[in-house]
Amino acid sequence: MTGVGRCGVNCVRPGDGLFVRTDWRFSHEYVTPMAARFLERAAGPDIPLKDPSTILAFRDHLTFLHHSMKAEHRERGLLEVADRLETAQAEFCAKHGIVLHGTLEDGTGSEGICHSLMAERYVLPGQLVVGTDSHTPHAGALGCLAFGVGTTDIACAWVTGEVRVTVPPTVRIRLRGRLGPGVAAKDLVLQLLSQPFIREGGALGFVIEYQGEALAHMDTDERATLTNMAAEIGGFTGIVAADRETLRFLRERRGADAVIEAWMRSDEDADFAHTLDLDCSDVEPMLARPGDPGNGLRLSALEGTVPIDIAYLGSCTGGKREDLRRAAEVVRAGLRAGLRVPARVRFFVQCGSEDVRRHAEAEGWIADFERAGATVLGSSCGACINAGPGVSDRPGQVTISAINRNFPGRSGPGQVWLASPATVAASALAGRICGAIGPGGS
Ligand code: SF4
Repeated sequence: MTGVGRCGVNCVRPGDGLFVRTDWRFSHEYVTPMAARFLERAAGPDIPLKDPSTILAFRDHLTFLHHSMKAEHRERGLLEVADRLETAQAEFCAKHGIVLHGTLEDGTGSEGICHSLMAERYVLPGQLVVGTDSHTPHAGALGCLAFGVGTTDIACAWVTGEVRVTVPPTVRIRLRGRLGPGVAAKDLVLQLLSQPFIREGGALGFVIEYQGEALAHMDTDERATLTNMAAEIGGFTGIVAADRETLRFLRERRGADAVIEAWMRSDEDADFAHTLDLDCSDVEPMLARPGDPGNGLRLSALEGTVPIDIAYLGSCTGGKREDLRRAAEVVRAGLRAGLRVPARVRFFVQCGSEDVRRHAEAEGWIADFERAGATVLGSSCGACINAGPGVSDRPGQVTISAINRNFPGRSGPGQVWLASPATVAASALAGRICGAIGPGGS
């Protein structure tokens, strides 16, 4: 141990247990009320929270629950239970002066998904971020250490500003070469997930640090797909060291500047528990077959025709500005080729935040999606917890989705294929799983 009983240590090693100071603590409506209840039971209703200005709350996961809730669950009053969560969260935030990114006044969606808004509006390189969701590592794309915590941990962190961690070892993933045209970070991460080392749990509980030349050609949105899906890899978190691209992103999205210090990247001679090398120039558009994100399959190896019923472009993984841009490019090509979404297919487009939606509108992407026959929804999610658009309602339905996971039942009873935003858009237009759109068809 490097600092038993001390406050502030120069370094830590894997296995060290310590409390760490957080820069941001956030929770969504699934967890805020439960954590508030725990806290009030344990410490009384008037316990002060540490620095509420760095605590955030989001209502972003149950906004569209009414889209997917089964009749029998409605009859049991579960929609009202979800509404009570919203009320309880709002009351707790008002009482403690916590910023709540809630639903839009007209009820059409949310201000944004917690992960999207944390990256777009709040986190800075070198910060430590905790959130009550497994995709909290999303913010690692900006060089933060961002990880998910449970209900009790967030309740304690509200009061102390700290969380307890056991320092995990780190797996380094070196991304050599660069991705080819039409290949996205989502394809890369699906390829990674299909690697035997990952499938066998080699990175379980580890920090996953992405390095390598390929990152220099990826913007922060794309990097966030990699760190976000550290959850599917089973990692403690995912991280990309901040660089010039991070500064560009901060200026573009927030007009903010940041300082990148030397300690914010791994030492040249750092020890890694394992190094995985991947040649990005070999990565092709990928799919994950239903049942597990690790069921990777090159799109070019897909045999036969797989008709789809639903295409979903959205979520914390697939609802970013860059995701929408790539999908819109495909849709524009399709429109030029005279394609429209077939009547039997539902194509849902849902931005990760209203910031993204406003940009997509200004760029004309939203109009193009609608012209092609997509249903564009207000920002929010719920797709991977069976609580929103994009989920199936019958076992025979096939969905192609830009979300992060396709475990059985988590997005309804049907079959969910994972893919990049571009592949989702192409498949929506073709009515079957496919990639590139060509003249007169796909
Ligand atoms: S995909 Fe949607 S429901 Fe799942 S973690 Fe991301 S924001 Fe939440």
